[in-house]
Amino acid sequence: MNIHEYQAKGVLREFGLPVSRGVAIFKPEEAAAAADELGGPVWVVKSQIHAGGRGKGTFKGAPAGAKGGVRVTKSKDEVVQFASEMLGGTLVTVQTGEAGKQVNRLYIEEGAAIAAEFYLSMLVDRATGQVAFVVSTEGGMDIEQVAHDTPEKIVTFSVDPATGIMPHHGRAVAKALGLSGAQAKEAGELTEKLYRAFTAKDMSMLEINPLVLTGDGHLKCLDAKISFDSNALYRHPDIVALRDETEEDAKEIEASKYDLAYIALDGTIGCMVNGAGLAMATLDIIKLYGEEPANFLDVGGGASEEKVTAAFKIITADPQVKGILVNIFGGIMKCDVIARGVIAAVKAVGLEVPLVVRLEGTNVEEGKEIIRSSGLNVIPADDLDDAAQKIVAAVKGA
Ligand code: GDP
Ligand code: MN
Repeated sequence: MNIHEYQAKGVLREFGLPVSRGVAIFKPEEAAAAADELGGPVWVVKSQIHAGGRGKGTFKGAPAGAKGGVRVTKSKDEVVQFASEMLGGTLVTVQTGEAGKQVNRLYIEEGAAIAAEFYLSMLVDRATGQVAFVVSTEGGMDIEQVAHDTPEKIVTFSVDPATGIMPHHGRAVAKALGLSGAQAKEAGELTEKLYRAFTAKDMSMLEINPLVLTGDGHLKCLDAKISFDSNALYRHPDIVALRDETEEDAKEIEASKYDLAYIALDGTIGCMVNGAGLAMATLDIIKLYGEEPANFLDVGGGASEEKVTAAFKIITADPQVKGILVNIFGGIMKCDVIARGVIAAVKAVGLEVPLVVRLEGTNVEEGKEIIRSSGLNVIPADDLDDAAQKIVAAVKGA
């Protein structure tokens, strides 16, 4: 789960990390009061969307040369003007894709004087199974570009969970950023607090770009992006409360209500599969035969008829879907339950695209019989290869 920058800064503030004072607003009328509360003399008006690259982004329909989604000003009138320009606008950045994202919230901050911009992020490194730090002097820019052009400017290390964060980790960060004396000490404190925040809140990713050295020589987190481990959200109701569903895919929200592992993709073939491995193989084989999957969907091991019905409805409700492939290997999952779920869903919402069903495993004959006797126009398939070819042919023919 992702949250907005202003919410992420709220979390960091709880852990004593240095962030600017700011006020989140939802309406342009709130801008003047927010500016007064902060007092100036410099304000930063920041679009809040779940995507980065806002500073260099552009608003749709804005005149050429107009500034992006993060604007710095010394004028209270401009704070109000920027707020009315940004709110409701559609911001396009390198991360949003062409469609952009509508800006519904702004964060107005007191502006900081910047002496240097650094990069710092943390993530769960799957290779080591540890929390890793990624640190660079090259902040404020695209870190992927830095990694590509000047990889020697990126320092990484991971923290052994048996010892937790240690003073030498803080020294490693200070060294990577070229800091000494009091600033190195600050980097050490920052490193320790970041690690505590990361582990206490079950984050999967925390990116501060830029981490800055302010005009008066202190470290400050000027931007913050946090992703949380969804599997741990049950123990963080305070984080769940920060969820902004307008930033998420409506189909994924619906799927999460039924505990379905569902990811929306860009293609045309809707897939209903059990087991993540089989689902991945199904996506691969669809691509192999020249089409693109519309989603990843793992209905899970012991899905109920209700869950299968919900899954099928989510797939059919997607206007991108031009054909559906049900690929089930019944182990714990029983083929007759799948068959009944599919039929219940089709009865409820209809079926306007070709449907290929491949069933194998527990209760397979019962499942096939349920589908045969339903009178539905289903294309049966014998194995994965056959199923993929049939659905690709059906979609291409349509
Ligand atoms: P992003 O473009 O979505 O990553 O948004 P950021 O929060 O990183 O802001 C983009 C850029 O705006 C930063 O890299 C800074 O150069 C600038 N910026 C943000 N906040 C301040 C501030 O308080 N003072 C100044 N002078 N510049 C800022
Ligand atoms: Mn940034």
